This record gives sequence, structure tokens and C-alpha cells, in this order.
Amino acid sequence: MAKPIIMTVDDEPQVLNAVERDLRKHYRGEYRIVKANSGANALTAVQQFKKRNTPLALFLVDQRMPHMAGTDFLEEAQKFYPTSRKVLLTAYADTEAAISSINTIGLDHYLMKPWDPPEENLYPVLDDLLSDWWATVPVPYDGIRVAGTMWSATSHVVKDFLARNHLPYQWLDIENDDEAKTLVEASTEEHRQLPVVFMPDGEVLVNPELRVLAQKCGLHTEATEAFYDLIIIGAGPAGLGAAVYGASEGLTTLLIDKEATGGQAGTSSRIENYLGFPKGLSGADLARRATAQAQRLGAELMLAREVSGVRVEDPYRFISLRDGTEIGCRGLIIATGVTTKKLEVPGMKGLSGAGVYYGAALTEAAYYRGKHMCVVGGANSAGQGAMFFARYASQVSMLVRSSELEKGMSQYLVDQIYGTKNIDVQTRTIVTEVHGSDRLEAVSVKNTDTGESKTIESPAMFIFIGAVPHTDMVDGIVERNRAGFILTGTDLIRGGRRPKGWKLKRDPYLLETSVPGIFAAGDVRQGAVRRVASAVGQGANAVNFVHQYLRTV
Ligand SMILES: Cc1cc2nc3c(=O)[nH]c(=O)nc-3n(C[C@H](O)[C@H](O)[C@H](O)COP(=O)(O)OP(=O)(O)OC[C@H]3O[C@@H](n4cnc5c(N)ncnc54)[C@H](O)[C@@H]3O)c2cc1C
Repeated sequence: MAKPIIMTVDDEPQVLNAVERDLRKHYRGEYRIVKANSGANALTAVQQFKKRNTPLALFLVDQRMPHMAGTDFLEEAQKFYPTSRKVLLTAYADTEAAISSINTIGLDHYLMKPWDPPEENLYPVLDDLLSDWWATVPVPYDGIRVAGTMWSATSHVVKDFLARNHLPYQWLDIENDDEAKTLVEASTEEHRQLPVVFMPDGEVLVNPELRVLAQKCGLHTEATEAFYDLIIIGAGPAGLGAAVYGASEGLTTLLIDKEATGGQAGTSSRIENYLGFPKGLSGADLARRATAQAQRLGAELMLAREVSGVRVEDPYRFISLRDGTEIGCRGLIIATGVTTKKLEVPGMKGLSGAGVYYGAALTEAAYYRGKHMCVVGGANSAGQGAMFFARYASQVSMLVRSSELEKGMSQYLVDQIYGTKNIDVQTRTIVTEVHGSDRLEAVSVKNTDTGESKTIESPAMFIFIGAVPHTDMVDGIVERNRAGFILTGTDLIRGGRRPKGWKLKRDPYLLETSVPGIFAAGDVRQGAVRRVASAVGQGANAVNFVHQYLRTV
């Protein structure tokens, strides 16, 4: 913990210097002594300290200051530091004000000026108050703090981003924490935007873009070169697999992701079917290990950057980022995976991130402790989500469209779900409407067999209802199917003919797209088996085809 502060405030320079001198003499080893020559300046400093979460042990403030009396300053300052000890320096005439402020602002002590000798009149009083403060002060958190409300979608995005990048943070809910609310109000403009992120160095970011937040957190958001042997778009299992093999086989390799490494797998609470982990492992753990491995082998990582386009200028391929930056390469692997389909029912507007979450929003689960949660969907991801949420929820209702869970879920998960007391499975059930003005309150469902409708009171609904591929960046460049999945290898040969515009005297390789040198791996491919192992395998395999391709250009 940083040295706690003792702050002294007085508008008379001579008195201020004298107090400072005496405080330094006795306390400088253990405390940082800070002086201010007016209440207003002192309040500005207090806000800065609070933004850095620096502990402040004691205020020693003169009552008689022309623009802001000592008691008025203490009243404001204690909104930021309610547990700091408060001492007023008074003259005889101020005794009454001092006594009444014992009640109004919880003044701890008042000292008559002059306090000489300090060994008798100052230090014993302050020593006593400081030892009291030490006994009750909580150790302040000195990492990143995120202040917002549970119902702000942008707060959810920031928390999710930090969690997925393994960056620890403290969450301050301004609806339940007055100190945090005061801090947010002091740090933002009139139109309050959330979340407010307090960095350890005192910088304050209001509803930051992920790229800016990533930079401040020390993540790599820029490429070091303008050209690479291999660029991989998407750092899920397929992209990470490709990066490990590409880098280890001597290709200069850049791996880009718009959020964090790990992809969908990184949001999984427990992956039980990945080879070599008999007890399973969390997606976050897998992502952390694979990222470290790819970097150790020499792959360069660029996070919080979205690829928005791909351009071909033979024999090179170029990717462009949202800000227009282009980076070139010889071989390109698209491993951008899929995202959960949006649920389109009445009432959804404005509730995304405010009780309605897409995919496994693991960071939010703990906030719904003891509540009834709904999980929409019947595939493995929904099953894993339900198992995870059941640790926190009083009840989890799985709302499944098909007639039985077994149709879309691995048997081991079906068994776990039916063996978990606080999960109920409602099959042949569709969501028809959601309710709530600024946060989810209830979910209406209908049984497709009986037509019976009912409403479940629930503040949290997690949706896992199928996938949409991330392939807009190659629109018009490589062939995709109607749903947007990328065609590769033999899927591109129709009636014995190679894809349109294909000029080479060979067929496309197994994972090659309709453009030579551009490959696709993982869930983004048409017909992909959506599993971590197959994504990793395809990522590795795609590198093999990149080598074969590079030998020919
Ligand atoms: C909750 C959940 C649990 C699961 N559990 C299991 C399990 O237990 N076992 C199992 O085998 N499988 C499981 N799966 C499936 C498995 O996670 C996926 O099959 C696998 O993650 C696919 O990997 P991928 O690399 O192809 O794509 P993804 O994991 O989807 O990764 C794609 C990456 O590309 C990035 N990206 C997308 N567009 C862009 C762009 N324009 N620019 C930059 N980056 C971009 C994304 O941010 C993402 O990180 C689960 C899936 C989910 C959602």
C-alpha cells in the first residue's frame, strides 16, 4: 500500500508552513504530508488522490479560511474519504463551531492554536487518531477500478474486455456505493457516461473505446512491421493454433483480434472434451496458456483492433483496420469464428447488457447471486452456461426449442444438467417477449406443443441460439455461402470446375478459399465441426498449406 496521506489546509502561509514542518518532523517516515492553501485547492487534490485510490489518513484543517470554512471543506472531503480522521485547528472564537461540527460532520478533534510544544499538544492527539484509523482502514485496491451500474451495457463491455484479457479490476457499483458515486460525479461532465475507468496512475477514462483502454493497460494494439509472412485474423482456438505453428516454423507471424485471445472458447466456463486435460479446463485458462505459447514462439499479437477489409495485390495480400491502416502479408488465414445470433422478440431494445446477455457472460453471473436466471438455447454452449450459472442462481430455467436436450448437446452435459437440482429444462419452449424498461424483469415463453404461455420473473437471461460468421471483411473477395460461412477446398469445386477467377493449375488446398493464399480455419468455414479441437487442428493445418502455397509464389 502507498504511504497514506496526512493533509493540512490553511490560507495563512506562516501557519500552514509551521503545521507542515511539525507534521514532517514526526510523521514523514510513515505518511506523505500534503499541504493546501485553500479549501478549493485541497478539494481538487482530494479528488485526484481518490481517483488513484491513494489512502488518506487524516485532515488537519484551519476553521478560519475566507472562501471555504474548515468545516465546509471537511463536509465535502468526507464524501470522498469517509473514514479519514478529521481535526480542526481553531481559535478561541471558533470553539462553538467546532463543537457543533462534532455532531454534524463527525469531527474527531479540535486543536487550539498555537499547538506548541507539538510533543505535548499535537502528536499525542494525532497519534491516537492515526492508530484508530489504521485499525479500521480497509486496504485500498491499487489496480484498475471500473465504476458503473449493472444495467449499463457499456459497463458490461468494458468489464468483459478486461476479464477476457486477464486484467484484474475492481467493480464499483454506483447504485450501491455512495463513495464511488461521488467520485464518478466529480470525474465526468454533466451528461454522465458510464463506465468510468480509474487507472492506477490516476488517469480517468470515461466510457473508453476498447482500443484506448487496451493501450492504457499495456496491451499491444499496433503492429511493429508493415509486412509479415503470415497474418492471422482472429485469435480464437483456430487463430492461436495457426500462430503457434506459423511462428514455430519460422514465419514472421501477426495475430490480430478485435477483442481478446481465446475467442468463443475463452468465454467457456469449462471445456471438458479437449485432449490432454482429463479434468477439463476453463476457456480463460486455455486462452492464457495458448497465448503465452504463441508469443514465446515468436508470434506477434495485436489486440482490440478490428480488421474491416482484405485486399489482394498479387502476390501480396493486405488487411485493413478500422482506422484505415493497412498491413501486408504473403499468406493470410481467416479464423474469425462466429458470434451468437440475436434474439428478435418484442421488448429487447435497450435490454442488451442490462439483464440480457449474448453468450456466456461469465463476468455478470455473480451479480445475480440468489436470483432466477434463464438460459436460452439447447446446444453445448448453453448447457455449459447453465451449469456455470447454477453455482450462483437460486434457479436456472433452460428454455430449449427442440423436444429434448439430447438432440443438440453432448451426453455428459445432459447428464450433468439433469443431475443439478436448481436447473429446470423446459423443452419445446420459445421466448415470445421480454419485459423491463431499463433492465430485464421478466421473460414470456410459449410451449410450441400446447400453445400455453407463461411469464417467468427473471432479472438475467443468457442467450445461446446459433451462430453468425464474422466474414464481412471478405465480402466480395472470397466465396461465402448464403449464411456468410467461407467455402474452402473441395466445397469450391462445382461440376468439376474451379472457383470463378481461379488462375492456378491446381485445385484449392483443403483449407484454401477461392483466392489463392487466403485460407480459412475453424468455425468460420462452411460445415465446420464447432469444437475447440477441430479449430486448433485446422489452424495448425492451415499453416501447412500456407507453406505449400508460399513455395509456389
Ligand atoms: C460458451 C461456449 C462454450 C463452448 N464449449 C466448448 C467445449 O466445451 N468444447 C468444444 O470443443 N467446443 C466448445 N465451444 C465451441 C468452441 O469454443 C468453438 O468451436 C471455437 O472457439 C471456435 O474457434 P475459432 O477460432 O474458429 O473461432 P472463435 O472462437 O469464434 O474465435 C474467433 C476470434 O476472431 C475474432 N474476430 C472476429 N472478427 C474479427 C475481425 N473482423 N477482426 C479481428 N478479429 C476478429 C473474435 O474476436 C474471436 O476472438 C464452446 C463455445 C461457446 C460459445
